[in-house]
Amino acid sequence: MLIGRPSCLSTDGTAARVACRGARRSFDRASSVADCPRSASTPACLTQSELQGQSAADDADEVTNMHKGSCLCQSIQYELSAELGDFGYCHCKSCRKASGSAHAANASVDRNNFRLLSGTDTLREFESSPGKFRAFCSRCGSPIYAYVAKTRDVLRVRLGSLDTPFGKTVKAHTFVADKADWDRIEGAAPQFAAWAPKSVLDQRGTLQGEGESS
Ligand SMILES: [Zn+2]
Ligand SMILES: [Zn+2]
Repeated sequence: MLIGRPSCLSTDGTAARVACRGARRSFDRASSVADCPRSASTPACLTQSELQGQSAADDADEVTNMHKGSCLCQSIQYELSAELGDFGYCHCKSCRKASGSAHAANASVDRNNFRLLSGTDTLREFESSPGKFRAFCSRCGSPIYAYVAKTRDVLRVRLGSLDTPFGKTVKAHTFVADKADWDRIEGAAPQFAAWAPKSVLDQRGTLQGEGESS
């Protein structure tokens, strides 16, 4: 990641250290936002060794971080260290309510590949049905991920929260029998009244194949 270094960087950094603590926080925050790090300026309180450490961390980021994401108000920032699984559009009533739209678009990642960078104080969980938890930002309401208790080590990330390109295309429409009357489904992806077969769309971390609703 190439973050611009300002000309105001001091070599000793001591005098400015306290005064620019706020600026440093802003820098740290900006550095974790995918759409603006290249315009972020480095506060003068960063020492040369800290900058080198930052640089090493940036290099590591490029190797391990597959995706970054955030909520609407930016309180919650996260990164993924593995690629997400395939996704479908779920038109069930729960997904419509939770997303506020015609369908959900979620993909799986192992919990140990999901790292919350900020927002532990605003992230909340709602148990929408027994054993099904939906995590969202309590400040702006953005859905972030969901999981079911019996597979709690697999998270279903809400693709709308991603700040990085994903590139995959939708594999199937599911729970079409539940869709809203104003929802016109278009495109070539196959449609299923309830779950899609796993051969078409494997929805890790859901109750797919267990005869239950989504
Ligand atoms: Zn938020
Ligand atoms: Zn659903």
